[in-house]
Amino acid sequence: MRWQNRPRDLEIPDPDGSFLPGLSGAGLPRTVRSPEFAGLTFHEVLCDNALNPVPASTNLPFRWTVDPLRGCSPACRHCRAHGPHKHLELDTGQADTHLVVQTNIAAVLRRQLTGKAWRHESVTIGTSADPYQRAEGRYRLMPGIIRTLADSRTPFSILTKSTLLRRDLPLLAAVAREIEVRPTVSLAILDTELHHSLEPETPSPEARLNLVRTLADAGFTVDVLVSPIIPCLTDSRAQLDAAFAAIAEAGAYSALTFPMHLAGNAREGFLSWLARRHPALLRRYRQLYGRDTSVTPAYSAWLHARTDRLLAEHGLTPSRHAESRSAPETADTPAPQLALFA
Ligand code: SF4
Repeated sequence: MRWQNRPRDLEIPDPDGSFLPGLSGAGLPRTVRSPEFAGLTFHEVLCDNALNPVPASTNLPFRWTVDPLRGCSPACRHCRAHGPHKHLELDTGQADTHLVVQTNIAAVLRRQLTGKAWRHESVTIGTSADPYQRAEGRYRLMPGIIRTLADSRTPFSILTKSTLLRRDLPLLAAVAREIEVRPTVSLAILDTELHHSLEPETPSPEARLNLVRTLADAGFTVDVLVSPIIPCLTDSRAQLDAAFAAIAEAGAYSALTFPMHLAGNAREGFLSWLARRHPALLRRYRQLYGRDTSVTPAYSAWLHARTDRLLAEHGLTPSRHAESRSAPETADTPAPQLALFA
């Protein structure tokens, strides 16, 4: 049988508990590397909480998030998915190679959702790290999470860039007959060269448009996260027009747009990339961001006026997440679950 020849996992001993000092020894069953996932180290942990509250100050329209994985292997240059690692005291520079896997998350979620206090508010999966990144192919945590949410009649949305979502499409279609399921596909960059440079480990724009199409054809109301919009690189009228046209043609219902935040590691990573690839833009970025994580209010207002007009032209509903545009976010915002909204 094929699995008999499968290369073996390599268990990494950690006698002094130094891998994840932010977790108790009891919560860290083992650390492994697998030949099938070269370059990645998995820290398999037992969590005692699966539901994360969203700070009201963010103005996001969901109150709870679930994130089975911490750290994100695609390591997109504009992303700050390092936050959770800071939270766990793991070296934040390793957030793309050291992934924390909450192997018991579905069981913990089930316990929390069956408690009398649970009010069946909407849950969003994958705001900290992509829940369908490569590691999900190994751990298969999402089917258990989806079933658990469905069993408790909790509506949910899933944020992802990954076409691995297709694996769970039959399950999602089945539970969508009982509860609201809103897939949100993240697709901010349609230019293939720019995509390759900024998000090299993620599925191509074309593959993600096909995912939107498949989901829409299956009857889902599909939201698209057309964010972050990158000043001077993806914000021209022609670029946004083409992006919205393609997304609308694929069958999306709504689009969420907001300008790039430059918080934490994303600031350093993105600006060093910009210095290499587009040095002439550095001066403009200093004007737009200065030392802040957010772009100037004047740019935001200009961008929102442009996107609102174009969204209307393409028949796309401004996303129900639209309130997040005004989210007051700083590098100190305790929002480890919201990397995708950075
Ligand atoms: S943008 Fe998404 S896929 Fe890319 S590193 Fe961040 S969380 Fe992962």
